[in-house]
Amino acid sequence: MQRIYFDYASTAPADPRVIEVMQPYFYTQFGNPASPHAFGREAQKAMEDARQSVARSIGAQPEEVIFNSGATEGNNHALFGISRSCKDKGRHIIISAIEHHSLEAPAGYLAKEGYKITYLPVSREGLVDPQQVQDAITNETILVAVMHANNEIGTIEPVGQIGRITRAKGIPFLVDAVQTVGHIPVNVDELGADLLTMSAHKFYGPKGVGALYIRRKTKIVSFLLGGDQEKGRRASTQNAGGAVGLAKALELCLGNMSQEMATQTRLRDQLLTEIPKRITGVVINGHRTSRLPNNAHFAFEKVSGESLLMSLDLAGICASMGSACKAGAMEPSRILLAIGLPDELAHGALRVTIGRWTTQAHVDCLLERLPQMVKGLRG
Ligand SMILES: *Cc1c(COP(=O)(O)O)cnc(C)c1O
Repeated sequence: MQRIYFDYASTAPADPRVIEVMQPYFYTQFGNPASPHAFGREAQKAMEDARQSVARSIGAQPEEVIFNSGATEGNNHALFGISRSCKDKGRHIIISAIEHHSLEAPAGYLAKEGYKITYLPVSREGLVDPQQVQDAITNETILVAVMHANNEIGTIEPVGQIGRITRAKGIPFLVDAVQTVGHIPVNVDELGADLLTMSAHKFYGPKGVGALYIRRKTKIVSFLLGGDQEKGRRASTQNAGGAVGLAKALELCLGNMSQEMATQTRLRDQLLTEIPKRITGVVINGHRTSRLPNNAHFAFEKVSGESLLMSLDLAGICASMGSACKAGAMEPSRILLAIGLPDELAHGALRVTIGRWTTQAHVDCLLERLPQMVKGLRG
């Protein structure tokens, strides 16, 4: 049976051109970038070229980019690193109610340590209101975090407006850009970001490799202590092959971005218009226009999302509810509750995310099979 992948927001296959340029750094050019000998210098050069390329892609300086293991590390580093460096200033952090677990969990941990966390509500479309950011800021605020786009419902947040507010107040602004880097234009100055996280496997690069942007002069304590790799900001032997892969993946995305955005938007809009035409009792979640080109998210009345995913999987179609359910607990997603979706609908969620290798035939297949499946599960 041919399988169809509709879960690009969870992870994307690596582009073969990425793996190709990575390979030498695991075999012939395997040196430790910290070693002063020829093998080391070769790996070091590759790392620094990759850093330059990534920095250029997001409008940053090379010394503002550190390579790490991914966005979970980047978000943890930002939360713990800023809170530790601002101990004397205050203990108030503002985050949106729809942040990824990798940002929400460290914030929750800090709350247990006595930090005050303000969770910004979102509209029915999943939008944060910049005015509410402005109103939430106090003299004690040490960090604001709002994601560039939500991984579940695909809403693109008004991050640039929020960044202008935090900039005026001199408060560090963290932007989780995992769903946007490589997919839509990302520029740290336009977003007003002081910290920005990305992850290579979300844009056709290798898993376990990411980058953290830290604006010059931002005071942040290192998260991993040990050697002085990455200028002391991230100890551990540097992953030259991984950095080269991340940079290559991003270059490929940027080289063809407007075309990929157009293709994916066209397929996405087919899903968003055709599914409600063919199936009754369905709502679209997320914003209609301020939306990732590759995200379509639905909630079906009187259908269990888990059962729907299983039916799809049996037919070789791999999609998602948008978030991993807490094992067996069947709790609806906190993102869907945050947008005010009634419990019953939140249980019938379906996220369809497309990517570089999604074809018209894939979309047609889903459009053809989904109505029977929903009908079957309701009947
Ligand atoms: C996937 C994802 C992460 C985590 O990235 P990893 O590199 O897999 O740890 C963080 N934030 C968002 C929005 C994501 O989609």
